[in-house]
Amino acid sequence: MGTPVRLVPVVTRVTVRVPAKINLCLGVGRVRPDGFHPLATVYQAVDLHDELRITAREDGELSVAVHTEFDLPEGMSVPEGPDNIAVRAAQLLRERLGDPDLGADIAIRKVIPVAGGMAGGSADAAAALVGCNELWGGGLGRADLEPLAAELGSDVPFLLHGGNAIGGGRGETVSPVLARGGYHWVFATSSEGLSTAAVYAEFDRLNPGAPEVPEVPDELINALRAGDAHALGRALSNDLTDASLSLRPELADTLEVGLEAGALGAVISGSGPTTAFLAASEEHALDLAMALASTGSAADVIQSRGPVSGARLV
Ligand code: ATP
Repeated sequence: MGTPVRLVPVVTRVTVRVPAKINLCLGVGRVRPDGFHPLATVYQAVDLHDELRITAREDGELSVAVHTEFDLPEGMSVPEGPDNIAVRAAQLLRERLGDPDLGADIAIRKVIPVAGGMAGGSADAAAALVGCNELWGGGLGRADLEPLAAELGSDVPFLLHGGNAIGGGRGETVSPVLARGGYHWVFATSSEGLSTAAVYAEFDRLNPGAPEVPEVPDELINALRAGDAHALGRALSNDLTDASLSLRPELADTLEVGLEAGALGAVISGSGPTTAFLAASEEHALDLAMALASTGSAADVIQSRGPVSGARLV
């Protein structure tokens, strides 16, 4: 047997920026025996970033502090302990590296809405994997981090990569999409979160005949290949829409306001309640944002762009 290699932290502090995601399309199939739903989705990473500052410790402790840049949805909190998914990611990586003395203090500055269907928790998990790997001298490449990411959650592997990607399986198998162009988005957030599990349960109730294998629409892939924002707007889709609207009927009004104000397309982001509107230009996005803000129905209205890259050291 060779002498075990002691992992020595090569830096003492790293900062990682990680984007939110939206689902340009979200095809959902019948629930599988393992409780997950088969998905056929196209993710786009958007310019709305959480930032994690991670400082090394050598006593095996993992701590987390969370600072949010907005009011959390009613009744919602982000755990500041072992339940925080960034801590779970660090633990998983430490097990993989096999050194119980590796520790870290993780400070999260949250900008991605919480429980908004934009994968904020998953983003932090991806960032913790990238950051701790660097901090602890883990030497793992993206391909090595991917299985750990998939174990943590369906959206985590995509947030390691960013860009535009097709997600299959339960969302965790990602393959990049050949795409052109940058897109202007407006997001309307909600003061009440929406539980992903509750939306999927409502989907099951409303769709007993859901297909076993959902598909990504060709029009959406063609629109991305062509860099055609108008075609992309027409192709946006989400099979969870009826379920989300059944739980939160007022979201239909928000979608309507954006479309009436000239959005090229509107879609609920993931399981919601954040709604996403595609604009033709930066100016158009500003007009849309003003129209949405003037209704007073959104907690916040945010202009953004996509695609952007995934979790990155800064
Ligand atoms: P998705 O789009 O992946 O369905 P979401 O964006 O709707 O998820 P999150 O913001 O990821 O939802 O939060 C979901 C739950 O995860 C919340 O109840 C929150 O308390 C918990 N959570 C754990 N760790 C984190 C974290 N680092 N950031 C945000 N939420 C976290």
